[in-house]
Amino acid sequence: VQVYGRQSQEALDGAVEAAMDRARELEQIFSLNIDSSEINYVNQNAAKAPVHVSDDFYTVLERSLYFARLTEGAFDPTLGKLIRLWGIGTDDARVPEPEEIAPLTGRCDYEHVLLDEQAHTVFFENDGFSLDFGAIAKGYAADEMKELLQEDYHIDSALLNLGGNIITIGNRPDGKPWTLGIADPSSPQPEEDPAVTLQVTDLTFVTSGDYQRYYEAPDGTRYHHILDGSTGYPADSGLSSVTIITQCSMDADALSTASFVLGQEKAQKLLQSINGVEAVFI
Ligand code: AMP
Ligand code: MG
Repeated sequence: VQVYGRQSQEALDGAVEAAMDRARELEQIFSLNIDSSEINYVNQNAAKAPVHVSDDFYTVLERSLYFARLTEGAFDPTLGKLIRLWGIGTDDARVPEPEEIAPLTGRCDYEHVLLDEQAHTVFFENDGFSLDFGAIAKGYAADEMKELLQEDYHIDSALLNLGGNIITIGNRPDGKPWTLGIADPSSPQPEEDPAVTLQVTDLTFVTSGDYQRYYEAPDGTRYHHILDGSTGYPADSGLSSVTIITQCSMDADALSTASFVLGQEKAQKLLQSINGVEAVFI
């Protein structure tokens, strides 16, 4: 988190710390790696009876279901069991047997998550799935950190880099737009080697790519972390990365993942139907 302003060093440090605190708070809600997280509680209980959830959880889940329907499941927050089966990015990563993958494929469980706005509850209509917000929670965190910096700390120049997910406030301190690079997936160090650089003001940049997290099987085949719920395997749409550039980082995050699964042609069609969204496909 880099913030710039005429405030005292102490005030700026306080702003950064508050933004980090907000991120840590959201981690306690959305992380599957924290046993006591809200998402783990919901996954363990929502098929038994409706579970009351926090505002943050409700907001992200509702938006996730919206994008699942919009993309016909290319982005699907109910792939938790399939994602866990592959374990890509964890020490338990492996290539599952086809018999293990089949029951978790082609399910469209996002149609079986029931939200009650009045009661603020979530209910799963069956216990064959679980939630995973890995493709959207970071975007939400970026939006929330930005809003906090602007509203509570009056920051008008900042750069937040959450890893594959960048959000900016205003311009650079010298008044020029931020210059951001899109990683070159074919480079040994993609993040250090931009394929494209763009000048942006007050926008978010979210990338989904096959080089970010993957498992290399003993035979040398690479399996990356973005799964296609219709096949049960890592998406194979001919793209190496998709970067979405827009204002809302949560939306960009969902759309980058969905676009990666859909492939360039279908993604372009989808993105052209949404106002204020631009994309770079590699
Ligand atoms: P991202 O880097 O934003 O594209 O998100 C990838 C992460 O989201 C993965 O590590 C999984 O936790 C989860 N995920 C994988 N495939 C999908 C998918 N098709 N829809 C939604 N989430 C997914
Ligand atoms: Mg995403």
